[in-house]
Amino acid sequence: MRLILLGPPGAGKGTQAEFIIEKYGIPHISTGDIFRKNIKEGTALGTRAKSFMDKGELVPDSLVVEIVEDRLKEADCKEGFLLDGFPRTEVQALELDKVLEKMGVDLNAVINIKVNPEILVSRAIGRRICRTCGATYHVVNNPPKSEGVCDKCGGELYQRSDDVEETVKNRINVYVNETSPLIHYYEKRGKLVDIEGEQDIDVVSEDIVNALRG
Ligand SMILES: [Zn+2]
Repeated sequence: MRLILLGPPGAGKGTQAEFIIEKYGIPHISTGDIFRKNIKEGTALGTRAKSFMDKGELVPDSLVVEIVEDRLKEADCKEGFLLDGFPRTEVQALELDKVLEKMGVDLNAVINIKVNPEILVSRAIGRRICRTCGATYHVVNNPPKSEGVCDKCGGELYQRSDDVEETVKNRINVYVNETSPLIHYYEKRGKLVDIEGEQDIDVVSEDIVNALRG
């Protein structure tokens, strides 16, 4: 299974990524993780990436693609992979296609988890996190038994400073603007699989499996 996972922040992408890699026995390839690993290990690619990041610049597409290509050639990707956080742009998608073509493989599907922006906003602004154990709650969907107190450990619940309406809306807008051309690109190529992300987590997982069986 060679897959790409797309979804706006707060759509439950992380949970579904964990499910998919377990279900299909494929590695989870997050570009953020690969960057951190390369930088930590001081590889040539990592050092080049770091020189851009240190200047506060975006790492150029060509370098991102090079790093991903390097990772896809590792042995654990032979039977497939789940790409997360890459590609981000249409240019990167075109470059990824070239890499896969060189490797003699193709994508099975691009899983696009869809959630209405208003729901994403309400999910985020209602989120509360325990200061002590990190458990998460939602003031409406999953409230603690006693307001402001963690059910598990009695710790104090707080709201993350970036889970306020304006910031969340901004985060979603950035995502939509960035990924719309990408989604269109995969749609044209018949790779896009839309998944209704507003359902229960288990139902979303089930829909993914059914769509990939399709
Ligand atoms: Zn707690």
